[in-house]
Amino acid sequence: MLIEIPNIENVFHIPEPWYIDRCQFDEKMERMDVYLKFRKEALFACSGCGREAQPVQDIADYDQAWRHLNFAEYPIYFHAEHPRTRCGGCGRILRVNVPWAIKPRAGFTVPQSCTYWRENSIYCTILLL
Ligand SMILES: [Zn+2]
Repeated sequence: MLIEIPNIENVFHIPEPWYIDRCQFDEKMERMDVYLKFRKEALFACSGCGREAQPVQDIADYDQAWRHLNFAEYPIYFHAEHPRTRCGGCGRILRVNVPWAIKPRAGFTVPQSCTYWRENSIYCTILLL
């Protein structure tokens, strides 16, 4: 059984132009999946040279997953389309750095983003009950 978890934005603090599209707890698979999207017309910094406000060229991966900390004993996975930019500065086409990854191209999320998660775990537990 899939359980939709509403209003989870304040738990994960995903910065613009990213947002949480939906969050599900899969009772059978015993895992939580958080699906993220970026706003249309979003601009990103080039992950090569850092030049700001580069438009999206294409999508490199339509369902990239990042492993997040557990919720109780259940693993959490972030999912998102991973866009690439064509940089007007260095000319390279590169995947953008997503704010939740521990480092570029890592499959894990940022530990610091979990501080709020741990402090508010009671709130999250209530949502699931
Ligand atoms: Zn660049």
